[in-house]
Amino acid sequence: MDNHTLKTHALAAQKNAHAPYSNFKVGVAILGSNGNVYSGCNVENVSFPLGQCAEATAIGTMVNSACTSIKKIVIVSPTDELCFPCGGCRQKIAEFADSNTEVVMFSQSGDEKVVSLETLLPFAFQMDEN
Ligand SMILES: [Zn+2]
Repeated sequence: MDNHTLKTHALAAQKNAHAPYSNFKVGVAILGSNGNVYSGCNVENVSFPLGQCAEATAIGTMVNSACTSIKKIVIVSPTDELCFPCGGCRQKIAEFADSNTEVVMFSQSGDEKVVSLETLLPFAFQMDEN
């Protein structure tokens, strides 16, 4: 599935974002290893630390659908600047992806940037598997 098709899913999710405090609406679409698409939006809360990023919503949707492997993740910014995942979300993505998994960012004006997860999160925390 190409990045622009995934972007369409992310844009649809972005419309549902609950962001009355920041007005910074983000949409995400994950291509699961099973070929299905899982989308999500950010969900803010009046108690600010309880807010949830769009990446977390999409990951929760994916796991709830019994998929635990991210093939690609697309993040749509609400502005003309790219929106990179926050540090916490980088670790959440790493739970279900590998170092080569593509993370794709789109701005509203159509700028596109593709990076590997390893670029965003070098030396990710892992349990010792030896
Ligand atoms: Zn985040």
